[in-house]
Amino acid sequence: MAAKRDYYEVLGVPKTASDADIKKAFRQLAKKYHPDVNPGDKEAEAKFKEVNEAYEVLSDAKKRSEYDQFGHEGPMGGFGGGGGSYTYSTGGFGGGFEDIFDAFFGGGFGGRTSRPNNGPQRGGDIQVNVTLKFTEAAFGCKKEIQVSRSESCEECGGSGAKKGTSPKVCPTCGGSGQVQTSQNTLFGRSVVMRPCAQCQGTGQIIETPCPKCGGKGQVKRTRTISVNIPAGIDNGQAVTLRGQGEPGLRGGPAGDLYVRVTVRPHQLFRREHYDLRCEMPITFTEAALGAELEVPTLEGKVRYKIPEGTQSGTVFRLKGKGVPVLGGNGKGDLFIKVTVEVPKRLSEKQRDILRQFDSTVTGKEYNEHKTFFDKMKEAFGG
Ligand SMILES: [Zn+2]
Ligand SMILES: [Zn+2]
Repeated sequence: MAAKRDYYEVLGVPKTASDADIKKAFRQLAKKYHPDVNPGDKEAEAKFKEVNEAYEVLSDAKKRSEYDQFGHEGPMGGFGGGGGSYTYSTGGFGGGFEDIFDAFFGGGFGGRTSRPNNGPQRGGDIQVNVTLKFTEAAFGCKKEIQVSRSESCEECGGSGAKKGTSPKVCPTCGGSGQVQTSQNTLFGRSVVMRPCAQCQGTGQIIETPCPKCGGKGQVKRTRTISVNIPAGIDNGQAVTLRGQGEPGLRGGPAGDLYVRVTVRPHQLFRREHYDLRCEMPITFTEAALGAELEVPTLEGKVRYKIPEGTQSGTVFRLKGKGVPVLGGNGKGDLFIKVTVEVPKRLSEKQRDILRQFDSTVTGKEYNEHKTFFDKMKEAFGG
């Protein structure tokens, strides 16, 4: 490795240069050696790196004073390219350089705008919505969906040129999709690459466009696609079908198709992740005497025994009666919360029976009620 040039020498400024002088010198040199101005010029690229490295140190007051004291070695074993603490990236012209130039040239300079668009390009993603019944989502299902997407035009084989003709190489850019133009910037005149206006950067000219696709080479088609909706999917989630989106351009990969699901609510169940919750009214007599009831599950009705003396608000858990876990094993649980419905609109006969029942009550039947009144007695006497 050749001996490093002095950073002041690199920027062409004296050791006493002010920050403003250093900045000014850097801007001039960076513009001169910028890779966008000197495409493929290795020497300019090396100079550009050297200038950046020098500026990185001299523009920082702390690094500059260390450099003045210790030279290239630096206090920590070296500045710049030699693996020291101030190593500047040498991995090609990545974000760092572009960022510097975006700051100086307002983003209009170089790489960003001159990228040719005649290379492979990935197709766009498509999103389709599908509405499922609650049980369809829980158990999974197969759905036929309509997708409108571009496909290669059969008439012209995707070239965009009328049958029997073919696209010509763009005479303006010679097929590269880019042209050199000079532009006036804050720092003077510079040469930049821009997408070719004649061919819109494609490098090709279609003289007689295909009448079917209007020269685009693609036509919109509506296709019916069968989608497997996995068991356990929930509202708002999506199934991704890789490569089923818009086709890529010039050999690029196709985009993806997202099938986003909306799940209709169930009349009885509320879903919480993979668990199901259900609120079920039971009668006053069922609660008091216990009963074998019919309770709902996703698969249908099942018999379920509730014990005598079941209180309103009691939650029963039916293990494994919930929703299958998406892409996994097992299922959630079903939680049934019972509420005791107090009978209303009783006949005279029913009232009599209840009064008779009440006259037999000793207190042990209503434990909570009795406890409460005992406490009240303690508190207030009586
Ligand atoms: Zn062109
Ligand atoms: Zn066509």
